[in-house]
Amino acid sequence: RPALLWLRRDFRFHDHPAMAAAAANGRPVIPVFIHDAQVEALGAAPKWRLGLAIDAFAKALQEKGSRLILRRGEPLEVLRDLVSETGAQEVHWSRLYDKPSRDRDAAVKSGLKADGLSAQSHPGHLLFEPWTVETGQGEPYKVYSPFWRAVKGRLIAAPVKTVSELRPPTDWPISEKIDDWAMGSAMRRGAEVVAAHVHVGERAAQGRLAAFLRDHIGQYKSRRDFPASGATSGLSENLTYGEISPRAIWHAGWRHLEEGAQGAEHFLKELVWREFAWHLFYHWPDMAERNWREEWNGFGWRPDNNDAEAWRRGMTGEPFVDAAMREMYVTGTMHNRARMIVASYLTKHLMTDWRVGLRWFEDCLIDWDPASNAMGWQWVAGPGPDAAPYFRVFNPATQAEKFDPDGRYRRDFIAEGQSTPPATARAYFDAVPRSWNLSPDQAYPERIVDLKEGRERALKAYQRHRG
Ligand code: FAD
Repeated sequence: RPALLWLRRDFRFHDHPAMAAAAANGRPVIPVFIHDAQVEALGAAPKWRLGLAIDAFAKALQEKGSRLILRRGEPLEVLRDLVSETGAQEVHWSRLYDKPSRDRDAAVKSGLKADGLSAQSHPGHLLFEPWTVETGQGEPYKVYSPFWRAVKGRLIAAPVKTVSELRPPTDWPISEKIDDWAMGSAMRRGAEVVAAHVHVGERAAQGRLAAFLRDHIGQYKSRRDFPASGATSGLSENLTYGEISPRAIWHAGWRHLEEGAQGAEHFLKELVWREFAWHLFYHWPDMAERNWREEWNGFGWRPDNNDAEAWRRGMTGEPFVDAAMREMYVTGTMHNRARMIVASYLTKHLMTDWRVGLRWFEDCLIDWDPASNAMGWQWVAGPGPDAAPYFRVFNPATQAEKFDPDGRYRRDFIAEGQSTPPATARAYFDAVPRSWNLSPDQAYPERIVDLKEGRERALKAYQRHRG
């Protein structure tokens, strides 16, 4: 009898415990993806990119003589249908850790078990199950450094063996077609602009890891903060859809650490920031909605406003900020330092609620991850655990001098004022909605806020709030 493998964010063969369990003992496996309410609710870019991940994995399965069955509906009902159509007696999946997924999966598990079926969830999306890391007092960690110290010495099991063959069932159940799901329909910009920058699928992810280890890990510590350097791995996109496992990355990084690569420990530490984000999000599931520190409730942040709209459009007149916002629009990602700077600019210089920015990222990022995004925004804005103090206001002009000294990043994404702007800068004008009515030969906007005044206004509001 076949096993159902319910795929969600684990589009890979390597190090896939759920797939290995489903395929054990030569059992036939029916891989399935379910388009449910959670998929429906995704932001434009994450949904579009998920569609690419699904499509690529369906093709990879076909190369192995298997298939990906696509169904739309409420997961428990869909799985029950598939069980009755195929005679499957077990269902396997990789765990997810956000609250809506946990609630859904718990209901699915108990429903299937009530039907007398075996329903098993497996690890794989993270290095450490969030509940397995706790302080001496049995509490969750709230500060990164002790979290890192607690996990860095842990023995991380080797990746599970790659499933080389998935035995097909005698009969395949019917599948819907991915094109009918129109996963890219909400892309306000031309998806083809962003399509030039994605790295879809397991092979692409592994290629990216190999290139990073070959060319960049040595200088990672000193170069990672320079957005034009291309010195980071870019793997967040693939981790989001499980096209590579964090464990595979960890072990590869660890080997370089043992061989003495300079930046390797720093790289592993960054990977553990992702773990920390999920640890926090598991224990505080409303981190994307509520100030983690309650004393921030009632702070005078502005709701959405025209300045925030200029920020979204990359038209604030602050070149580093605009370059970063356009980078996200054109490529679907943004360099980490730039994320910190635009988030600081929005929440401090523009005094706008961090949730306004969080939602825009949620709509635009192809590496959107609910935990890292929420942690990042709360960290920069101030209310988060282990957050940067509010009075630490990034100055985007001095940050630009420091981390983009030759102006390349800004030139890469801002066409105005350049007689022959690079394709990335021009692409912004292809990507923005027509209603914005922009053209590369228009004048670059004036600053919407003076940096000194903006900073002082933010600090005053902070002092007022603290009383
Ligand atoms: P590398 O430098 O190569 O790092 C390797 C891996 O470590 C990354 O792929 C990522 O998984 C992890 N990592 C690195 N830095 C961080 C970090 N600060 N927090 C958590 N994990 C980290 N990351 C997302 O994956 N999705 C998001 O939606 C997201 N939103 C963010 C929002 C804000 C406001 C901020 C400040 C940060 C956000 N980050 C987010 C974290 C970080 O910017 C990205 O993970 C990083 O830029 C990815 O690039 P990379 O893969 O080249 O990273």
